[in-house]
Amino acid sequence: MAEVTLDELVKEFEDVVAVDHVSLDIPDESFTVLVGPSGCGKTTTLRLVAGLERATDGTISIGDEIVNDRRAYERNIAMVFQNYALYPHKSVEENMRFGLEQQGTDDDVIEERVADAAELLQIEELLDRRPSELSGGQQQRVALGRAIVRDPDVFLMDEPLSNLDAKLRVQMRAELNKLHEELDTTTVYVTHDQIEAMTLADQIAVMDAGEIQQVGEPTFVYANPRNMFVADFLGSPSMNFLEGTLRQREGGLVVDYGGFEHEVPEAHRSNVERRIGERVALGVRPENVSVAQRGYPATVEVVEPQGEKTVLELTVGDGRSLNASVEPDEVVTVGEEIRIEFDRSKLHYFDPETGESLT
Ligand code: ATP
Repeated sequence: MAEVTLDELVKEFEDVVAVDHVSLDIPDESFTVLVGPSGCGKTTTLRLVAGLERATDGTISIGDEIVNDRRAYERNIAMVFQNYALYPHKSVEENMRFGLEQQGTDDDVIEERVADAAELLQIEELLDRRPSELSGGQQQRVALGRAIVRDPDVFLMDEPLSNLDAKLRVQMRAELNKLHEELDTTTVYVTHDQIEAMTLADQIAVMDAGEIQQVGEPTFVYANPRNMFVADFLGSPSMNFLEGTLRQREGGLVVDYGGFEHEVPEAHRSNVERRIGERVALGVRPENVSVAQRGYPATVEVVEPQGEKTVLELTVGDGRSLNASVEPDEVVTVGEEIRIEFDRSKLHYFDPETGESLT
């Protein structure tokens, strides 16, 4: 069993609190992704699990054991880094063998594990080469191979795909998914790339300023962000926020933006009605804004075809910007006055002061 549990974990570096009371359950066999902007503390969290940093406070458990006082090599984890960290003067095979040789593993066991991992990763033909004779993607496979042969309880991966070009990254993402299905090893993966996080994770933990903002299944967190930070961080282009004043109107509630009003759908009324007279932020994702016959008037400022979708930058009401992500066959031109509507089943309401979701 190799679940990993972080309990009120803290790491301070002199005047910086890099990890601020993080509690997180990483279930056995899960693929958990820590995601957040640069400096949010995700790498430090991973290094704490690896035993490369000492916790200031709190505990780290692997399986049933608290491992705070265990050295990195005593933790039965394997780490894959962004820069691969291969030994340049050793062949691929020697790179893969090295960790096991250090542990004093029997030679026939080493042979078998290296052969199995090489087959799994399809690098059998590369075993005699040096790292400098490999492409970036091949080097990354070798780095994975070196982790796999150790048969660890947990894989720790720190932005392992970030040095690859966009196309290879997508391909390696799919391979990592397959690999995880095959091996079922508990994996903790760090990235700042929300798309990578969404596609790889079965559990995502969104971090900001040393704290975990929300944990859950990626699609759930995307659809139910707990606060404006999470709502904004997940999704590209990111969620639109329109701040206005909540007012009572005959037969319902509206958010008044000064110039136009938006009726609060029935399903959300009870969540927001205690805020009448106060400021609220409506959140709507660009893919939930569509060009319509009727609806709010909007001016098209920018049209950006991206292939499978077209992103429109619009202004509405008193000059607020709003992004819409529409079908590529939607024909609109810069400067055109159009009408837009929101998918009323996909709206979010937030307290603009605290950022907390009201729904
Ligand atoms: P990135 O994506 O840029 O790697 P991150 O989310 O992984 O960022 P960390 O590397 O964990 O963030 O850093 C969190 C905070 O801790 C930052 O403010 C960073 O400057 C600080 N920090 C990290 N390592 C050290 C260190 N060894 N000494 C001092 N401060 C550090």
